[in-house]
Amino acid sequence: MASSSHSGPLDRLEILMKKPDNRFCADCGSPDPKWVSFNLGVFICIKCSGVHRSLGVHISKVLSVKLDEWTEEQVNTLIDGGGNSTVNMRYEAFIPKNISKPGPDSSTEERSDFIRRKYDLLQFLGPSSDHDHAQEETNQAKHRVGVRQAFRHSWRRKEAKSFSTRGMVEFVGMIKVNIFRGTNLAIRDVVSSDPYVVLTLGHQSVKTKVVKRSLNPIWNESLMLSVPSPTPPLKLEVFDKDKFSTDDRMGEAEIKIGPLVQRREKMIIPLQNVESGELEIELECVPLPQ
Ligand code: ZN
Repeated sequence: MASSSHSGPLDRLEILMKKPDNRFCADCGSPDPKWVSFNLGVFICIKCSGVHRSLGVHISKVLSVKLDEWTEEQVNTLIDGGGNSTVNMRYEAFIPKNISKPGPDSSTEERSDFIRRKYDLLQFLGPSSDHDHAQEETNQAKHRVGVRQAFRHSWRRKEAKSFSTRGMVEFVGMIKVNIFRGTNLAIRDVVSSDPYVVLTLGHQSVKTKVVKRSLNPIWNESLMLSVPSPTPPLKLEVFDKDKFSTDDRMGEAEIKIGPLVQRREKMIIPLQNVESGELEIELECVPLPQ
């Protein structure tokens, strides 16, 4: 690894994490949060990080302090946010009396509701000490809310449904899936395929990039998923990217991720429902600290 790691992003992250206001989740107050929304500038617990993820990356970009590799730029963005108390002074400036902030033991539903109001709907937003900045931000916020309300108007029923479904889900941890390579995959175009992998766990799904014209693709990608309880099997599917038609299937597999283990587990997964092919992956589970 790089020899400059002594003064690298991780060290600066560590210093930030030890600041008193960052030692408790910005949203629910749980001690020792190990997750960060770096664009919003807050340290959050694993339960709240699941909710942040569900808001989408246009609202919150979540990284793990321990598991993710940080760039200097991401650390800089986080520092610019000012830390948990600065961000909360802005995003929790005016919390109405009938709404209470969730605590460490709050349900996923209470958490989701508050976090969505706080960062997505911007319902508690207040002016900061810097007047011009505040004005500009309020204008932007109004614009954002305006645009979203326009969308929401037509999408309301669909969104309300998906939100309440999501609100019921309890997360017990995170799983990091390193997808290294595929070997001897099936041919779906004339002589080759353009394969990519889709991971599905409960309602979440994430995918790798497409590797062009290869039956032995190397992805070397890390994908993160929240682990719901009860935990369904992790589904892996390989597809061939087609420009002009539906992507073709190139096999699939299911992995039971059952009792969460903290150590990394490397494995070779034979693909089912296909002529040939296997995937080389690694699983790393992060249980929720109780
Ligand atoms: Zn929290």
